[in-house]
Formats: sequence, C-alpha cells, structure tokens
Amino acid sequence: MKSTEIPEIELFTDGGAEPNPGKGGFGVILSYKGRKKEFFEGYELTTNNRMELMAVIFGLERIKTKAKVTVFSDSKYVVDGIEEGWAVNWERNNWIRKKGNLVLNKDLWERLLNIIDKHEVTFNWLKGHAGHEENERCDVLANQGINSEHKIKDEGYLEYLDNVEYYQEQKIEKEGDLCRKCDIPTVRKSPKKRKVKPTQNYYYEYYLFCPNCKTMYMVEEAKRDLPQNNSMF
Ligand SMILES: [Zn+2]
Repeated sequence: MKSTEIPEIELFTDGGAEPNPGKGGFGVILSYKGRKKEFFEGYELTTNNRMELMAVIFGLERIKTKAKVTVFSDSKYVVDGIEEGWAVNWERNNWIRKKGNLVLNKDLWERLLNIIDKHEVTFNWLKGHAGHEENERCDVLANQGINSEHKIKDEGYLEYLDNVEYYQEQKIEKEGDLCRKCDIPTVRKSPKKRKVKPTQNYYYEYYLFCPNCKTMYMVEEAKRDLPQNNSMF
C-alpha cells in the first residue's frame, strides 16, 4: 500500500497571553515541500493555554485536503492532551467533571478533536525558547498578535471563567491530582535542597508539580518535622 498519496505538512505553533490571563496571541507556520506560510492573530482577553490550543486549531483548519500533519508545539498541555489521550477521555465523559463542571477549554478541545479526525495528525513536543528556528519564529509571530491593534474577542473565555472557579477550590494532595490552571495531572518532585527558613521547624519531602505551567503545589502529607536544634546546650 502506498501511503504517499496524501501531502505531508509540518505545523509549528506557539501561543501566549500577557499577563495570563490577559491579551493574547498566537503564531503559526505551515510548511509544505519547503514552502512556508506564516500567520498570527491577537486576542483581547484570553489565557496561555487557550492560545496554544487555538494556534494548532487555526493551523489545521487552514489545510484544505486530507494531509499527514506533524504538529510541533512547546505546550505540554496541548501535546499531552492529545498524545496521552486525555482529550478523548474528557469527550467520552461528555466533558463533565465532578459537580457538573465542564472540562476547562472544552470548546477548543472539541474543535481540536474534530479537526484531527480529518487528517492524520501526530503531535511533537518541542522545548520552548531552545533555539529551534520555527518555534522561535512562532514566538515572534505570537507577540505580533499580542501587540496588534486589531484584536479579536475570545468568545470562549467567559465559559472558561465560569468553570475555573471550581478548579481553584480543588484540593491537590497526591500525584495525578489536576493542576488548577491547566487541568492536567501533576507529578511528584523532590526538592534538590531543603529550603528552610531559620524559624521554620519543618520541611517538605516532596511537592507536586505541573509539567505545563510549572506551578508547585506544597502538600500537607509531605511535611516533615526537622530534627530538634540542640545548639542552646
Ligand atoms: Zn498547570
């Protein structure tokens, strides 16, 4: 079987908001047979994660015939959301989380899953700001979006706000509990050095960490007493 019939396209994306949430933008490069096309858009009020998602959706929606698309993004949220199967699971559960709240950014994840079905798409994570030519260029384009005078309204941001409140109240106690900002599983990490203030009589053996937004969550469970200081004798 020849699978060379369909075009092979590379899609590079980057998106961000300043501050987060704040004004946003994304940059996209489509590369086909050595030819590159660049795009950017700016948004009035949105988030980092929404811009990263929108960048990929925008790129894929520009491809008019079925193609083999390799996506390069520096967003763990986007890449793992697809490659680890989270988005498919969320869809299977009708995008509903505990207490009837919706999965964050349901509108965009739904659009992304729909457009992926039309092509053969694989996602690759790139380390951001690491000198990768197209990624750096997408970052520049995204900033053009952020700074552009003609910004678009992100219609889905209000729904995001409705749901995000619930996430702020979520407890994060064990590995795999979901990051309050990104909705993706946290991982357990141990500090390289114990960070202890002179007046503090405890330390944290480990903490939970979001691989996407790098937020650290300190957990009660990991709190350990420091050995008593006998210096007064
Ligand atoms: Zn996060």
